[in-house]
Amino acid sequence: MTFQEFLLTWPAERRTAAVAGAGAEDALAALDKEFLRPEDFSALLSPAATPYLEYMARRAQELALRHFGRAVQLFTPLYLSNICTNQCRYCGFSAKNRQRRRHLSPEEACAEARAIADTGLQHILLLTGDARRLSSPEYIANIVRAVRPRFASVGVEVYAMSEEEYGLLVRAGVDSMTMFQETYTAELYARLHPAGPKRDYAFRLAAPERAAKAGMRSLGVGALLGLESFEQDAFATGLHAWWLQRTFPGVEVSVSVPRICSHEGSFTVPHPVNDIRFVQYITALRCFLPRAGITCSTRETPFMRDHIVPLGVTRVSAGVSTSVGGRVSRNNDDCGQFEISDHRSVEEMKTSLAGMGYQAVVKDWEDMTAHCPV
Ligand code: SF4
Repeated sequence: MTFQEFLLTWPAERRTAAVAGAGAEDALAALDKEFLRPEDFSALLSPAATPYLEYMARRAQELALRHFGRAVQLFTPLYLSNICTNQCRYCGFSAKNRQRRRHLSPEEACAEARAIADTGLQHILLLTGDARRLSSPEYIANIVRAVRPRFASVGVEVYAMSEEEYGLLVRAGVDSMTMFQETYTAELYARLHPAGPKRDYAFRLAAPERAAKAGMRSLGVGALLGLESFEQDAFATGLHAWWLQRTFPGVEVSVSVPRICSHEGSFTVPHPVNDIRFVQYITALRCFLPRAGITCSTRETPFMRDHIVPLGVTRVSAGVSTSVGGRVSRNNDDCGQFEISDHRSVEEMKTSLAGMGYQAVVKDWEDMTAHCPV
């Protein structure tokens, strides 16, 4: 069974009913369980659970300490290109937006990677817009081969690929992929993605499965919170990660929790997620998926990021530039995908975490088959 087939057993009406119909007693019962079912997760996401947020936070913290200790992994994104053929209505890189476009040559990408490696980071995430002719799988693989010796882990957050193409990336040295489904509601997805290859909801939804079959070590999923009602997408995202864990037990699974923020163009966030619901989401995820990673980007403020780390966030970005070539050349500052709310450098992030009693980890994995740094 594919995840899409599994999701059909949880249609929108069932998801809404599960969350809206849960009572306080269901949420409290879920917190007492060692292993939670999707129904328990929906109870923790429900409005009925909100008054018990402190209790949920204590449980989440306990589980986070049990499974991850006080280690938080640091990573940073490297934007390769903001040229994109899609027209996602919520994104600054949309083909419709008038924006300066840049596409890094392999040499320029290596210069960016060097600047990142100089900060001591060992995990990077490569991102591109969806322009297959320009940012082809081969182009990405070439860059991976060039930068891989400097890093312990290279991840990708790029357009959905075939299993064969993911295999090409794995052989080049990619060990993790993140795929944001943006929203799990197919009709809304179609409205938000009016043109371009990303319109194919099913192809995108199955991308993590293809990547796992191609040998990817680590998979990340997420919805862009604020596009669809909180209950719908928060629940579907947790369900996706849960299903991936059960289907591919040898693969590491994580959830990213981006809340939509402003960008070039005009887009009114249809379902803003307030701070209370956001914290509820993190705690519910940690209780439902105690072994899954939770990644929080610099879309969130330092205050929020510092407060959710103890609730089970295991990966945070630091020293971030969302501009293409933004580390080497300041002239590219106007090419960012979204506004950063946390501008802390790698050192500042390490200091903040240490002050909270947490240890910043720059490397938590090593591929023994990889070559030594050149
Ligand atoms: S979200 Fe991704 S695919 Fe959509 S316009 Fe932005 S960069 Fe392109």
